[in-house]
Amino acid sequence: MTEAALKPLGLPKAELEQLFATLGEKPFRARQLMRWLYGRNVLDPVAMTDLSTALRERLAEQADFSLPTIHAHEASADGTRKWRLAAGGGQLIETVFIPEVARGTLCVSSQVGCALDCAFCATGQQGFNRNLGVAEIIGQVLVARRELGLDAEGRSPVTNIVFMGMGEPLANFRPVVQACRVLLDDFGFGLSRRRVTVSTSGIVPQLRRLARETNVALAVSLHAPDDTLRDRLVPINRRYPIAELLDACWEYVELTNTWTVTFEYVLLAGVNDSPGHADALVGLLGGRPAKVNLIPFNPFPGTRFQRSSPEVVDAFRRRLLGAGLRAITRRTRGDDIAAACGQLAGQVENRVLVPLGQKPGQPRCDA
Ligand code: SAH
Ligand code: SF4
Repeated sequence: MTEAALKPLGLPKAELEQLFATLGEKPFRARQLMRWLYGRNVLDPVAMTDLSTALRERLAEQADFSLPTIHAHEASADGTRKWRLAAGGGQLIETVFIPEVARGTLCVSSQVGCALDCAFCATGQQGFNRNLGVAEIIGQVLVARRELGLDAEGRSPVTNIVFMGMGEPLANFRPVVQACRVLLDDFGFGLSRRRVTVSTSGIVPQLRRLARETNVALAVSLHAPDDTLRDRLVPINRRYPIAELLDACWEYVELTNTWTVTFEYVLLAGVNDSPGHADALVGLLGGRPAKVNLIPFNPFPGTRFQRSSPEVVDAFRRRLLGAGLRAITRRTRGDDIAAACGQLAGQVENRVLVPLGQKPGQPRCDA
């Protein structure tokens, strides 16, 4: 094969049609190709029998359909699976599959590392190397589907996609939006908008843009009910404080006609888990289209935080429920293979000397 000049993998339909137009091909060819890639898991152009011979040959010669290679694979006692995928240059990203009773959720990475430096997150502690391209994001879905095979009814066990792996999706805006389009498109993965979730720590301008580009489910990593505490836990809050973030969330609900925003809240013992914090959270979210997802902190080597006790987690949840806020506690999955929320470290060579939200010379942020 000559050096691959064409990169069709992961392109949304409109962009693939444009690419094909430059090759002198009709738009319906783009839909045919998508059916092969995402509907039938066929990545070899030679096998795409309804494409013209000339197009097949051209794609085989010039297009790159390669998927990320698996560096390591682990399976948890609870059925969770984790793949470490090579992202070039010795960098590794992680993708996690979490089987549940009526669904299977794939947690995908959007960046190699993360520059946002949240105090309680293993990915953040590693620093940032680079953004993933859309082929690498969609590639994670294709690798997981291939590895998991089909269920007894001939369907893939991957029913939901969450951007909750390594990285901040809104800091890698275009590829993430492209990936969302392919996930939702009937010629792509055909998932309903409720089954695709972007989770963000709150880059407000990008969140406002997101509302104009897609309508997937939104999860926001809040973790603290006041700016003083959130500034310490989620440093991007220093640039986009809570009031601005919530305004952007309510705008997202309105513009996308979404039912609710999920607010993630990692419970850290003695830091953000008191009844007063719960009441303050009610003050922020009460009466709004919001639900709270409480996440018991998942420890990782070197962290100074501790998980709140089950009693404290339960009391916190009851206090929210008692005030009329919807709240669930996220069950920890895959922690025996370091696959739980916030434990994904991959292998990242940090290229960012000064993380966002931090001034040169300022100490690392922790609570
Ligand atoms: N960057 C995005 C998405 C990836 S993190 C974001 O921050 O939302 C996915 C979720 O895991 C976020 O809610 C994040 O705050 C949470 N998380 C990070 N570290 C964690 C840890 N050690 N234990 C539990 N949850 C954690
Ligand atoms: Fe980045 Fe999200 Fe981790 Fe914060 S919690 S460092 S935004 S991956």
